[in-house]
Amino acid sequence: MATMSEIVGSTAYLADEVATLAFAQQFAATVTSPCSVALIGDLGAGKTTFVRGVLRALGVTGAIKSPTYALVESYDTAKGEVHHLDAYRIESVDDFETRGGFEYFESPSIRFVEWPERLQGAVLFDLELRFDFEHEGRRVTISAPNETHES
Ligand code: ADP
Ligand code: MG
Repeated sequence: MATMSEIVGSTAYLADEVATLAFAQQFAATVTSPCSVALIGDLGAGKTTFVRGVLRALGVTGAIKSPTYALVESYDTAKGEVHHLDAYRIESVDDFETRGGFEYFESPSIRFVEWPERLQGAVLFDLELRFDFEHEGRRVTISAPNETHES
């Protein structure tokens, strides 16, 4: 089983949705709480599909809705609380704060944020997953944007 530090800095081609779900399963086995994960990519890049795959792998059996309108959907999982946020429709960082968005970062949990760019740096992310369109599939690239290098 790979560790997160082995995955960080890597890239993988995901040929179809099944490949995205398999990657999500591998990520779910590797991620540890607390962790804030930025999900970058255009509409339809597979951000929500990825989170759905992680949640299924962590034992969530009920409905999994995209949080585009609600801002956040929260789940009790095999690795504790997971919050799935989507900042696409926030008007501003103030709007995000007013709607309680920052509270999900206060106690230990795993948070996935779609459209993190809208938060303008107000949240520090441990991991960043970028999904790019490539041929008929997607390419995912994993980085640790705020990693402090230890010797
Ligand atoms: P986003 O949340 O980034 O807007 P969604 O996950 O809602 O994207 O939608 C992604 C769409 O692309 C879905 O129709 C899904 O079936 C499809 N998809 C997901 N992963 C892949 C992939 N690796 N290759 C091709 N299509 C994919
Ligand atoms: Mg989405």
